[in-house]
Amino acid sequence: MNLEQITKLDKKYFMNTFGDRLPVAFDRGEGIKLCTAEGEVYYDFFAGIAVSSIGHSHPALVMSLKKQAEKLLHTSCLYYIEAQALLAQRLAEISFCDRVYFSNSGAEANEGAIKLAKIYHHKKQSGRYEIISLKNSFHGRTLATVAATGQEKYSAPYQPLAPGFLHSQMNDIEDFKKTISNKTAGVIFEFIQGESGVHPLEAEYISEVAKICRENDILLIADEVQTGIGRTGKMFAYQHYGIEPDIMTLAKGLGGGIPIGVVCAKEAACAFSPGEHGGTFGGNPFATNAALTVLDVLQNENLVENAGKMGEYFKSRLLQVPNVLEVRGKGLMLGVGLGVNAKEAAKKLFDRKYLVGSVGEATLRILPPLIITKNDIDLFIETLTEVLEK
Ligand SMILES: *Cc1c(COP(=O)(O)O)cnc(C)c1O
Repeated sequence: MNLEQITKLDKKYFMNTFGDRLPVAFDRGEGIKLCTAEGEVYYDFFAGIAVSSIGHSHPALVMSLKKQAEKLLHTSCLYYIEAQALLAQRLAEISFCDRVYFSNSGAEANEGAIKLAKIYHHKKQSGRYEIISLKNSFHGRTLATVAATGQEKYSAPYQPLAPGFLHSQMNDIEDFKKTISNKTAGVIFEFIQGESGVHPLEAEYISEVAKICRENDILLIADEVQTGIGRTGKMFAYQHYGIEPDIMTLAKGLGGGIPIGVVCAKEAACAFSPGEHGGTFGGNPFATNAALTVLDVLQNENLVENAGKMGEYFKSRLLQVPNVLEVRGKGLMLGVGLGVNAKEAAKKLFDRKYLVGSVGEATLRILPPLIITKNDIDLFIETLTEVLEK
């Protein structure tokens, strides 16, 4: 089918929740390139919203998926699963956590983390059940996670929302102290708010919040759905700040394109007993095998280190481009503040075959695969300079 035919079917049969899509349908990918059926090549600096962490069709992942598909896709959580056990062990070894629970998306992982904080306090009969999140945060689109998400545009149509969610101003420790109470069960935040435009939390704020949580038996939930798995130049963003959360959620980059979500927790926070949480697909052989392979590739190709180095280089180059006012973020999670309309700039980049995101009027969002090279960045900067000079 050509693009026109695909568009026609989409417009007729798909529930449009995204507005107008960009006028392209990709047929295959390789590394940071995406190609249409007609043979046009695009350069992917958005990685399907921070998902395609090791690039498109990485040979090691393709091989591993093929092998696993030939053996077994799914069995359900009624039986033991080797890849699931191995992935759980691997995540515990590379992070602060002792145990994990698998789901299929970021929202579902956060839903699980919120339930875990609530049931932890329920079992302690501490009277704590409220969850605090930050304004302008993004935690997903399920009913509980839109209540946690601090952006009214996502929650307004779904009133009344799940009760017990409070929102505090980011980087404002006084506001945080005013928001917590003897009802607070958990705090959930992103170290760098991604979806709302790449806004980092300050290190001092993070350590203050972590300290207050520790002193009051409030569970700290790090939503690392986007910052996790190497994107910021460390395997997990919490490792930049010298603190450990009690619970961490992962998704996006972990499966390299295969849906998977994870709730990671310290032993003391693992309050679920049999029957108290669950799911049909979570952690199936196909998804957990994919995630194991992604972690292998990250390690074998030093991609976490590459994300840090390339991020620094990218930042320094971006700051030399005309009409770039500031660059926010860490590693390969970058928000570029522009002096011109960001949506138009993103469209002009698209016309020149570069894929990026934009937030609001003034921010370009750049989330390339972690395999990106200096040369890829140089070519992007050339094109961006052309676009922003005009
Ligand atoms: C994308 C995202 C989510 C939601 O993940 P889905 O897989 O879309 O449900 C949650 N939190 C953060 C920080 C995200 O970036």
